[in-house]
Amino acid sequence: MDIRTRLLIGGRWLESGSGGEFKTYDPATNEVIGVCPEAGQAEVDEAVAAARSALSDPEWRDMSPAARGKLLWRIADLIDKHGDELGEIESRDQGQPWFVARHVNVGGTAEHFRYFAGWCTKIEGSTSPLSWPNVMNYTRREPVGVCALITPWNFPIMIAAFKLAPALACGNTAILKPAEQTPLSTYKLAEICQEAGVPAGVVNLLTGGPEVGKALVAHDGVDKVSFTGSTEVGRHIAAAAAGNLKRVTLELGGKAPSIIARDANIDAAVAGNLQGAFFNSGQVCGALTRFYVDEKRADEFAEKFAAGAKAMRLGRGLDEGTDLGPLVSPEQLESVSDYVRGAVSEGAQVLAGGDRAGGDLARGNFYEPTVLTNLNDEMTIIKEEVFGPVIPVLTYSDPDELAARANATQYGLVAGIWTRDLVTAHTLAAQIQAANVYINHPPVLDPAAPWGGYKASGYGQEMGRYAIDTYSEVKSIWVNLAA
Ligand code: NAD
Repeated sequence: MDIRTRLLIGGRWLESGSGGEFKTYDPATNEVIGVCPEAGQAEVDEAVAAARSALSDPEWRDMSPAARGKLLWRIADLIDKHGDELGEIESRDQGQPWFVARHVNVGGTAEHFRYFAGWCTKIEGSTSPLSWPNVMNYTRREPVGVCALITPWNFPIMIAAFKLAPALACGNTAILKPAEQTPLSTYKLAEICQEAGVPAGVVNLLTGGPEVGKALVAHDGVDKVSFTGSTEVGRHIAAAAAGNLKRVTLELGGKAPSIIARDANIDAAVAGNLQGAFFNSGQVCGALTRFYVDEKRADEFAEKFAAGAKAMRLGRGLDEGTDLGPLVSPEQLESVSDYVRGAVSEGAQVLAGGDRAGGDLARGNFYEPTVLTNLNDEMTIIKEEVFGPVIPVLTYSDPDELAARANATQYGLVAGIWTRDLVTAHTLAAQIQAANVYINHPPVLDPAAPWGGYKASGYGQEMGRYAIDTYSEVKSIWVNLAA
């Protein structure tokens, strides 16, 4: 596979940016698989101008909601039609096992467009019960305008869809800015939008690194930034977007606790936590990343969990039987290795894994699924986001301190609770500061259910009707009925 991508600006495909070119790699081998243009300030300006002009172009502005819905549905159908090709590209560029790439990631992308296709005809205003005599007030929901959609490398095409589908449903125009590590599937998504008949300038694509993202966030012609990525960059974006008071949605990092109570079904908890912890090699913002197991069940749980981790098969995403693919880049491999080395030097014991994979896998960025014990709440590995297949197993003796321990982090994205007791489940679900809580289920997503973050995990929801709110403005209109 050797893909050469282009920029998409105002319906035109441009060969190279004023910023030059960059390469993208297969993380299973670190071979080059694509070359992409790096957009410079000139292309950022052109893309913003094209998106602004498309906003008021009657072809898009006056497109009926039903026609917009059909357009989104067509995009979904084309994603399905090109599903195998997209799955292969995503698996090669990101490293994901085939099932994850093809069925979760690409399949989820199509489902997002289909779900938001249905919303196009249901974006309603309301009337307000005024105290003013002979005056009527009603509301309209209008597009926010030009939306810069800046995405990370862990689920490249699906996270682009989380943003692009509701943005288009609400009548906005968009500039996609995929992560520099994994730009290929978003390039294909832009091609599909063209093939589906999206009018020129409504969907634009700029590839490149942080400088492209920064230029978009600073641009006065951009009305909204929707960003998924690290908390550190999210903080910069919140500050940089203040110039023209852009609307900002931030989906940031996490450090999800998973609580395994004394009465939990241990086999089910082991299976659910293996999935919740190691899915996509732990490169998931909502991954379960620090376990609190009742001390009476801790040995049984840790032993079974470590056995499950050891049984997982590392391999190239496209190879049959692969459970865990590589980490996305040598930098990510180094960062995960450093976290584990640091934990061990602080006294952690390794129950499973604990090193990068050797043999044939040594030329890729593979890290063994790792389980650590003998830890305490103050260790770095308990506090910071590792974003890899590394699970610290802690214990608890006093259920009353669980919520405080779970909440002792800057993040508030996801929490897992494993218990058969309704009171424990719902009490903890209310006490834990996380925007998404899963009871006896590993973290999953659905286009119909809201997704967001508390605390330093971000603000603004994606998915469900909440996404419609964040991609539209409310206009309040007053009418004198006695005029
Ligand atoms: P990152 O923050 O390094 O980069 C994300 C994107 O932002 C990339 O496209 C990058 O080029 C761009 N960027 C970098 N600096 C920028 C700046 N100053 N201004 C504008 N754009 C900039 O994140 P990553 O390493 O690609 O992704 C991993 C992170 O994403 C993890 O922290 C993970 O938890 C988070 N994440 C969160 C969610 C969620 O829904 N909350 C989902 C997936 C990933």
